[in-house]
Amino acid sequence: MLFSKRDKITESYDVVVIGSGLAGMTAANMIGRSGRKVLLLEAHNKLGGLATWFKRKGGHVFDISLHGFPAGMIKTCRKYWSKDIANKIEQVKRVRFLNPQYELESDFTKEDFSKILVEHFNVKEETVAAFFDELANMNYYDPPEMNNGQLFEKYFPGRNDITRFLLEPIVYANGSNLEDPAISYGIVFSNFMSKGVYIFRGGTDMMISMMKEELLKNNVDIRLHSEVDEILLDDEKIVMAVRVGDEVIKTRSVVSNANIKKTIFDLVGETNFDEQFINEAKKVRLNTSSCQVFMGLKEGESIPDIGELIFCSDDEEFSTDKILSTDVKSQTFSVYYPDMRPHLGNRYAIVSSSNARYEDWFNLSKEEYKKRKDFLIQRALTALDKILPGIESKIDHIEASTPLTVEKYTHHLQGSSFGTKFEGLPISMNLHKQVPGLFHSGSVGIIMSGWLGAANYGVIQSHEVENYLFNLEKNEG
Ligand SMILES: Cc1cc2nc3c(=O)[nH]c(=O)nc-3n(C[C@H](O)[C@H](O)[C@H](O)COP(=O)(O)OP(=O)(O)OC[C@H]3O[C@@H](n4cnc5c(N)ncnc54)[C@H](O)[C@@H]3O)c2cc1C
Repeated sequence: MLFSKRDKITESYDVVVIGSGLAGMTAANMIGRSGRKVLLLEAHNKLGGLATWFKRKGGHVFDISLHGFPAGMIKTCRKYWSKDIANKIEQVKRVRFLNPQYELESDFTKEDFSKILVEHFNVKEETVAAFFDELANMNYYDPPEMNNGQLFEKYFPGRNDITRFLLEPIVYANGSNLEDPAISYGIVFSNFMSKGVYIFRGGTDMMISMMKEELLKNNVDIRLHSEVDEILLDDEKIVMAVRVGDEVIKTRSVVSNANIKKTIFDLVGETNFDEQFINEAKKVRLNTSSCQVFMGLKEGESIPDIGELIFCSDDEEFSTDKILSTDVKSQTFSVYYPDMRPHLGNRYAIVSSSNARYEDWFNLSKEEYKKRKDFLIQRALTALDKILPGIESKIDHIEASTPLTVEKYTHHLQGSSFGTKFEGLPISMNLHKQVPGLFHSGSVGIIMSGWLGAANYGVIQSHEVENYLFNLEKNEG
């Protein structure tokens, strides 16, 4: 049932899911499918979390995070959502890299990357094979042995161009740096490279609307405009309810899709956890955020095929530190051709995305904030003009978003686009060992983030909740 924002909820639930990001929605769908009574509460006015879109006058629709995800999303959607959703996923047609060190095109498969490393970068075939073998044999649960910088130095010593080729797309996406454990890079990159980069043809709005139908079909109750203020525990510190304003909704368990730190420190309160657990939770670092520039072409205008994903930079050399700074000259262009949303007619949209640090955008004066946003817009137009001369005259809508925008719309601490770094995963997974009935599912540890990682984590945690409820019922006799 879809509650309206004015409906008071008087029933009690087996599971309340807080937040409708891809992890929260997938967990809710799985638990609903198994016949449990589930309520999905979302603070925002629509489902999807960071998997979202917005509309602007003149018939423009812009996607925020639909740039590309791994092939595994097809299987995940088919198994845990529906065949119809899975069938809309298609491979991104052309991925390009344009920078002063090289201009290349790839289908983002391991075979193609290997070929480029050998033929363009002149690396020996055995070295390339050994590098990919090392990535494939990394085990996430082993203690991290080396960082990204050491991994690249081991196989491609002194080759800034190769480090750029292999790492830049990942840095754009999730803000990884040379000091991050090589394992998180290995898993993200081998996932992406196994079979190319994929996209949901139809747009985020269509996918989320299909998922909403599926949730309702599986009897998941949904209410939007419902920001949960508190997770309430009983005298034995077991989950018993959630509070939304002055409304208390009873539940036997909670899956929080809110940020892991927010879940622990704001929604539950640190006094309800062991001291050692809290100390570890405090050390969890958030990932960086994003800046974007959204450009919509006038109705009737068109552009030639320049590729769907373009990693573009005017910086002479690659530096992970530079890429996160405000004066970086690098960005990713996602180009949406009319086949993305055929029902809109002949419409084109282009989105520039770059990684960004929250602290560079927080606490600025109004003037400085505007100046920096204008810089983003100008940087996008200048770079795009080199690929599509005269593009500015074809655009009739342009606007920029910053880490503050991401924070405002998703309630993510510091507008983090990909949750937390590596150390967030064990904290998230062990939450229920601290507070019975409390589970977390949402972007943590890089591998459990992104569209595929978040959806898969929703599945994993739905099983944990099922086990918990099963044991609870067994003990109740
Ligand atoms: C600019 C950008 C580009 C990206 N590009 C890609 C990409 O190309 N490919 C890819 O795979 N991934 C991409 N991502 C990342 C991806 O979108 C996210 O990792 C993923 O969607 C996160 O899902 P999640 O389940 O962790 O939750 P989120 O999407 O973070 O959703 C959490 C939800 O919980 C709600 N919530 C929080 N607190 C409360 C509360 N107290 N009460 C009620 N509701 C609450 C929020 O409103 C939100 O809807 C991108 C992200 C950004 C920002």
